[in-house]
Amino acid sequence: MAIWECIKQCGACCHLDPAERPDLEEYLLPEELELYLSMVGEGGWCVNFDHTTRECRIYANRPRFCRVETEVFQDMYGIEPEELNDFAIDCCRQQIEGVYGDRSLEILRFDSSVGL
Ligand code: SF4
Ligand code: SF4
Repeated sequence: MAIWECIKQCGACCHLDPAERPDLEEYLLPEELELYLSMVGEGGWCVNFDHTTRECRIYANRPRFCRVETEVFQDMYGIEPEELNDFAIDCCRQQIEGVYGDRSLEILRFDSSVGL
């Protein structure tokens, strides 16, 4: 069975371009949407994303919508805890393919890490 994990030096989910996430209003609270949009920087990347290290500069204090946690996903997307693993894997694959491509090193690393 594949088990979700966040791989190092990926950051695909830090590409926040709202054009690629048309349903933001459906799962973000109004103040979260405002915060989200304020974080969109050059090329659609989060202003807190360090492109050199491919890490979050504010990781410990990152917003709720950046966190893959049971309560967050239940609240934002209505995902039950037992569905979280598969849902998170799908989300990451979709985001990685969109940002880096379906034959990228990142998707190969992700698939290998989660056990696909
Ligand atoms: S897309 Fe998934 S694997 Fe990549 S940084 Fe985000 S959570 Fe981690
Ligand atoms: S705050 Fe951090 S984790 Fe959230 S999108 Fe920006 S760089 Fe990524």
